[in-house]
Amino acid sequence: MRALVFTRPSTLELQDIDDPVADAEHSVLTVEATGIGGGEVYQLHHPGQREFPSIMGHGIAGTLANGRRVAVDPVTSCETCAACTSGRRQHCASRRIIGIHSNGGFAEQCLVPTVNCYDLSPELSWEQSAFVEPFANAVHAWNVSEAAPDLRIGIIGAGAIGLGVVAQAALLGTPVIDVAETTTTRCDVAHELGATSTKKQLDGTYDIVFDAVGTPKARAHAVERTANGGTVVLLGLESDSPGFDANEVVRRELRLQASYVYLPDEFAAAIPLAARTSADWIRNYRFEDVQDIVDDFSIGDYTVVRAALRPAGI
Ligand SMILES: [Zn+2]
Repeated sequence: MRALVFTRPSTLELQDIDDPVADAEHSVLTVEATGIGGGEVYQLHHPGQREFPSIMGHGIAGTLANGRRVAVDPVTSCETCAACTSGRRQHCASRRIIGIHSNGGFAEQCLVPTVNCYDLSPELSWEQSAFVEPFANAVHAWNVSEAAPDLRIGIIGAGAIGLGVVAQAALLGTPVIDVAETTTTRCDVAHELGATSTKKQLDGTYDIVFDAVGTPKARAHAVERTANGGTVVLLGLESDSPGFDANEVVRRELRLQASYVYLPDEFAAAIPLAARTSADWIRNYRFEDVQDIVDDFSIGDYTVVRAALRPAGI
C-alpha cells in the first residue's frame, strides 16, 4: 500500500510498504479520511521521543472489510490498572495513541483495534468524519471543565478542537460563547456553529476560558480573561512554556484544569456533534499534496479550517 512515512524530522515520504494484516483483535481499515491538524505539523517538526520510520494520523475514518463505515478511537490503554478500571484510561501509564505510538492513518490502510471502531451514520460524509476526533477532545474538555449551561464561556482558538467546544456549548444552550480567533474563515465557521461573538482577543471576563492554542501568549490571555474563582481549561499544546502569572492564579483562586484525549463515551458523543459541521469546511488532500497544507500550517497560515488526507481519492 501507499503511505506517507515520517522518516526523519520535518520529512514525510510517500512510500510503498507492506499491507497491514488483521488478527483476532485488530481489523484492517481502508482509510477514507484522516485529519491533518496543527498537532501533526507540530510533531513533524518536534518529534520528541518518536521512533522513525512511522506513520502519523490519529483522526481516522474508513471502511472495514465487512463494509462498516467507522471512525476510529485512536486511544488504547492496558485496561487492567487502577486508572483503567476506574474509568480514567487517559491516566493509564500504558496509554497509547494510534498515529503517535503506532502506525496511523496517513496511509491507504491502517491496523486498528476492532473494539475502537464506531459506526458512522450514512448521512455523515467522510469530510465531516474528519471532525470526530478533534470534537472528542472538545467533549472531554467540556466535561472536565464542569461547565454548566448558564455560564459565560470564552474560547481561545477556533481550530478543530476549539470549534468542537463551540459546538458542544451551543448544543447545550450556553448563552455566551465568545471566541478569540484571528483567521476569518475560522471565525465564520465558529459563528455557524453557534459562537455569540468572534474577536481577535477576548475582552470580557468569563466563568470558564478554554485555551485551544497552547502558546504562552494564549495561556496568559486565558488566565487574564477568567473571572475570579473561575476555571481555565488548558487544551493547546503549541509550547511547553506556561506563559501565565502563577501568582495571579493564586490570588484570584483560579482553577487550572488540563484536558487531554477522551473517554470512549466521549468519542461516541463526538460523532453526532460532527454532524453539525459542513463538508464545505474541509479541504481534501491527496498524498502528493499534503506538503502544501504542512507548509501553510508551518508558517501559521490557518485559512484552511480543517484538512483531511483522502488516500482513496477525492
Ligand atoms: Zn491502564
